[in-house]
Amino acid sequence: MKDARLTRKQTPSHTSAIAITDRLAIGTEAITLIAGPCAIESREQMEAVAAHLAPSPIQMLRGGAFKPRTSPYSFQGLGRAGLEIMRDVGRAYDMPVVTEVMAVEQVEAIADCADMLQIGSRNMQNFDLLKAVGQIEKPVLLKRGLAATLEEFVMAAEYIMSSGNPNVVLCERGIRSFDTYTRNVLDLGAVVALKQLTHLPVIADPSHAAGRRELVASLSKAAIACGADGLIVECHPEPDRSVSDARQALSLDAMTALADSLPAIAAAVGRTLPATSAPLPVAV
Ligand code: PEP
Ligand code: MN
Repeated sequence: MKDARLTRKQTPSHTSAIAITDRLAIGTEAITLIAGPCAIESREQMEAVAAHLAPSPIQMLRGGAFKPRTSPYSFQGLGRAGLEIMRDVGRAYDMPVVTEVMAVEQVEAIADCADMLQIGSRNMQNFDLLKAVGQIEKPVLLKRGLAATLEEFVMAAEYIMSSGNPNVVLCERGIRSFDTYTRNVLDLGAVVALKQLTHLPVIADPSHAAGRRELVASLSKAAIACGADGLIVECHPEPDRSVSDARQALSLDAMTALADSLPAIAAAVGRTLPATSAPLPVAV
């Protein structure tokens, strides 16, 4: 039977850029940087993050309102209240936002508030959810499962695309291995392979891969050097007080310092970074 994969390159140079807004696309010559806290904790927190990042090359905000936590006793996210905070702050600072969708019944509300929907690692093979985000037009950030093969990852993207939504960005976020020093292992070979196997943009998440903030800057540089189209990185105004993933959170200063260190690496591989993410913000 003919393999009609929608992710497959039609020619060796076939790449797709995915439009996030009318002014931002992922997968162009320009690297896209996405940053923000693991979880949306308060309006003040998100404003502090956006105010710090808006004048930097970081273009998009991240933050979870619905959080997939290992323990049911851990903070589960602010839910719909968090979505509203994210939407308002993103608009005020002219930064598009991405946030995780955990269930089919959340898709509509999240699509109303966010510019991009994240499917988290734990849901990479939640086929009903993949089909549901395949029925909207908003772009989807699909994270690789904790122990997913590249074939399984690509097939998850096929679920979304074959349901009608071509706007998929792949994210390598580290895979489980035997070493407990790092949280996961950032599979840069997968970034390279996915760029060869598919025409979709591929970004890297060094934060969930490393689980340790002191590894994040170097892994970010390595990801850009090997061809990633962007990064999604966790940062927080008070990293040690993050309600989730504190150990991997960068300070806001470390986050912008990381962004400022990337143009040289990007230039070495024929890519660019925008000078700033946004025009001056209007008051929230
Ligand atoms: C996150 O982005 O905060 C997250 C939970 O990511 P992952 O699904 O990669 O663990
Ligand atoms: Mn996190």
